[in-house]
Amino acid sequence: MADLSDLPHKAPSPASRPKWKRYYVKGDIVPFEEDATHEFKGHRNLSVEDVPPWAVGPNNKRTRRAVSRTLNGFLNTGKGGTVYLGITDEGHVRGLNLTQYIKDHMVVAVDDLMSRYTPPVASHRYKIRFIPVVQRDATEEQIETLCNYDSSIHIDPDVRLKPHILRMSNYCWCDRDHIARINSRRQYPIAHYL
Ligand SMILES: [Zn+2]
Repeated sequence: MADLSDLPHKAPSPASRPKWKRYYVKGDIVPFEEDATHEFKGHRNLSVEDVPPWAVGPNNKRTRRAVSRTLNGFLNTGKGGTVYLGITDEGHVRGLNLTQYIKDHMVVAVDDLMSRYTPPVASHRYKIRFIPVVQRDATEEQIETLCNYDSSIHIDPDVRLKPHILRMSNYCWCDRDHIARINSRRQYPIAHYL
């Protein structure tokens, strides 16, 4: 377990705060390690098909492991677990840049993934949460704004209905939309856990 006593700003435990105040601080080390029920992923490749070809090294050895493999393990133990996306293997909070469209994509992709297990995993057995990641020097006010930020208010509800392309390492339309927005609009990096 990492000793957090020397950290200047200890991240509050997400579980101990009211729901709207949960957040992580970028660059912090989370106060728990990977084990049988906690897994960190720096990326958001959910299914094996989502892992891009460049992440497959010599002898077909993958440098990136899809989230589905971890979920497989959690399902097999019967104990379940939590996957933290946007946290590196070393436990550093990095966050992911997610627009509302990409969040929608992830929800659909997780549902798709769960439906492909044998037997399929019922929707009441899993949960996706998007937790804000704040900068270390953020003020209380900024944190509160970020925690109450609704990323669905600035998007086109019609575009939101567009089907997402699943099980592909290629960019979906929501990724292309995100790239187009990157320099034109402020995006909040959001960590998410499952
Ligand atoms: Zn998409």
